[in-house]
Amino acid sequence: MTAMQSEKLLGKFSFRRGVHPPHRKDLSQSCPVQEIRLRAGQRVVIPMSQHIGAPCQPTVEVKQQVTAGQEVGSCEAFVSAPVHSPVAGTVVEVSPQPAAAGTKVLSAVIEVAEDQTNGRPWKQKKENQDLHAYDSAAIVAAIRRAGLVGQGGAAFPTAVKLMPNEKKPVDTVLINGCECEPYLTSDQRLMIEAAGPMVDGLRLALRASGARRGIIAIEDNKPEAINEVMTAIRDIDELQLAICRTKYPQGGERQLIKAVLDRVVPTGGLPLDVGVVVVNAATASAIYWACVEGRPLTERIVTVTGRGIKQPGNFRLPVGMLLSDLLEVCGGLTADAAKVLLGGPMMGPATGRLDIPILKGTSGITVLSRDEVAREAEKACIRCGRCVDHCPLKLVPTRIAQAVKARSIDIALEYDLLACIECGCCAYVCPSKIPLVQYMKSGKVMAKNLSIK
Ligand code: SF4
Ligand code: SF4
Repeated sequence: MTAMQSEKLLGKFSFRRGVHPPHRKDLSQSCPVQEIRLRAGQRVVIPMSQHIGAPCQPTVEVKQQVTAGQEVGSCEAFVSAPVHSPVAGTVVEVSPQPAAAGTKVLSAVIEVAEDQTNGRPWKQKKENQDLHAYDSAAIVAAIRRAGLVGQGGAAFPTAVKLMPNEKKPVDTVLINGCECEPYLTSDQRLMIEAAGPMVDGLRLALRASGARRGIIAIEDNKPEAINEVMTAIRDIDELQLAICRTKYPQGGERQLIKAVLDRVVPTGGLPLDVGVVVVNAATASAIYWACVEGRPLTERIVTVTGRGIKQPGNFRLPVGMLLSDLLEVCGGLTADAAKVLLGGPMMGPATGRLDIPILKGTSGITVLSRDEVAREAEKACIRCGRCVDHCPLKLVPTRIAQAVKARSIDIALEYDLLACIECGCCAYVCPSKIPLVQYMKSGKVMAKNLSIK
């Protein structure tokens, strides 16, 4: 290791507890990102709500022509993010459309006017860009206009995260390049193929938030990404690289902050409470393009993987593309495909329908085969304590699950149900195959319903 490298490299970090599921990244990690272009007549569906916060209201009408990048929904609320059309075409419907959770969400349906040709460049930075020309207000405004949200899955509006807060100053922006979910490789490929824009996105995030230090955290099972990022930050004083041991859920915000900075985010609090903002790797890249080109978030990289898909890979595609169209590009499902997950196997919810759109926060689609999902029946708890030993938040999952089962939500809340991040570690290690995360999720719904009454 050179002297420069040792200055830039921050230790080998980890957190306590968690699990080590098989990575299964080999299916797609060597697949360069392919760009998907839509054909004339295909449709995209743009939901008005694909972020945490207030939903947008449509700003277009049926039969209206739209251009690629045009805003089709907006909202004045502080916590929200506008939505845009990824294609030039005609609005054919503004109506509730099927969404992942089995519900319907008000959406603009747009028919593509002409075969899409070349996409916009995303791998190389633009030449002669002076990032000092952008002040905090300009960066936050550009991010908000572009509709940026966390692309790691949480979909929290990025402008809200980065807006300076006098009461809670930020000293560090952490780029989350851990991608700890098994199977998924979209961030890994982004860092390998397009580290430059991501790194400048981090520099812009520092300027926006007022932080002085930027750290990019990557798990040690991604050596190629580590090399590319190390090269990209070589001459940038305020940036460092933190290598994290591969462990799930290393990419959880709390686990990452504890591991890299040894700071504890209080229960019910935010990273901001300990002077940190965490931004996903793909979001950092989108910050760069939003600032230097005014580019809205209308494209993203998605991993399509699992033994139930014929041609796994990583794809850069229009947000709003239908899942069924995407699976067709990948050769379709195998004969023994059994379950389609929106995300990875630890946290990704299953979907029974394929006529739903890819959203800003969809980082991967995992299709599991029949033998992978063969589930043993739930048995009684044997009080082995494994779920407790592996919970990264030191919760007592078995007690919470029992309380939820008995509909004793007050007891579940006493055991800190609301602190659960639904990471799935407890269910993964449970020898009795108790669907502990399902109990956490339904317990939270019950608690919410109680608080509404
Ligand atoms: S209780 Fe929640 S946070 Fe703890 S392991 Fe289970 S899902 Fe993860
Ligand atoms: S891991 Fe499963 S069987 Fe063991 S204590 Fe927890 S819930 Fe019970």
